[in-house]
Amino acid sequence: MKPAPFEYHAALSAAEAVEVLARHGDAAKVLAGGQSLVPMLNFRLARPGVLVDINGAADLDYLREADGVLAVGALVRQRKLERWVADRVPLIAEALRLVGHVAIRNRGTAVGNLAHGDPASELPALLLCLDGAVVARSVGGERLIAAAELYLAPLTTSLAGDEIVTEARFTLPPAGAGWGFAEVARRHGDFALAGCAALLWRDGEGRIAGARIGFFGVGSTPVRGSAGEGLLLGLEPTPARLREAAQAAAAALSPDGDLHATADYRRRVAGVLAERTLIAALERCGSRP
Ligand SMILES: Cc1cc2nc3c(=O)[nH]c(=O)nc-3n(C[C@H](O)[C@H](O)[C@H](O)COP(=O)(O)OP(=O)(O)OC[C@H]3O[C@@H](n4cnc5c(N)ncnc54)[C@H](O)[C@@H]3O)c2cc1C
Repeated sequence: MKPAPFEYHAALSAAEAVEVLARHGDAAKVLAGGQSLVPMLNFRLARPGVLVDINGAADLDYLREADGVLAVGALVRQRKLERWVADRVPLIAEALRLVGHVAIRNRGTAVGNLAHGDPASELPALLLCLDGAVVARSVGGERLIAAAELYLAPLTTSLAGDEIVTEARFTLPPAGAGWGFAEVARRHGDFALAGCAALLWRDGEGRIAGARIGFFGVGSTPVRGSAGEGLLLGLEPTPARLREAAQAAAAALSPDGDLHATADYRRRVAGVLAERTLIAALERCGSRP
């Protein structure tokens, strides 16, 4: 199939993009890497009257790290981010390696992935796990949307129709934090049936000072494993405690079943992955995050 007819605007800056959005609102869609939007247009699952192409907006192509925050501009391709974080933030690099295939990551943007809001995507769960946020801009100004407030339902975010995400902000793990990342998919490059990211860091006595668990593929949005995190704080990390925390986090999930996996399978796999990623995180504690 071919897309339904649309009006095309090539924006050369973020300001130009939001001006077009202000005129068209919900009738318009931003085109970034096109790796999700173009198939949806071709299948006519999306029929926007206007496309605002931001690929020429050079002011959105930047990566910065300052004060413990990694800022990723809306035009940064997933592959560029993957290379940039490879030695700096291996947790993010590991997550990106599992996003589709290299050809998709060469074109797809990290911010487009976050804005698309697929609950089986790796990056939204990571943004949630890292207490991240996105910067939303309209002609009226900018606002910061925390990851916990961004995702409402599958492919549905709290972005307004006249807003563009200009930047994603990942809060970097504290020095010495350990990390784990794992997913189960039918084939490499497929969206995950279930996945989990975990972070742990310890205080001077070796007790757990911080714990983060983030799930994807097991709900209508990415889900934070708060029930498990709370069981670990201030305690010695033992295998039994990590297992208990993983099971508690998974028990709080309400995944849907579909053609690919039942709800029960997803919950069980999530528990196993949470335990594995917490163990991996503990083993890496003390090394660079
Ligand atoms: C075969 C295949 C396999 C894939 N596998 C995975 C996978 O395993 N995991 C995964 O996470 N993803 C996967 N993807 C999706 C891929 O990561 C996309 O690149 C990504 O989801 C969207 O990024 P994009 O830049 O291509 O955005 P686009 O496709 O251009 O846009 C996607 C949506 O986000 C909106 N949008 C984009 N940028 C902005 C912005 N700056 N502000 C506001 N709205 C914006 C668009 O309007 C659109 O609604 C796969 C894609 C394909 C084709």
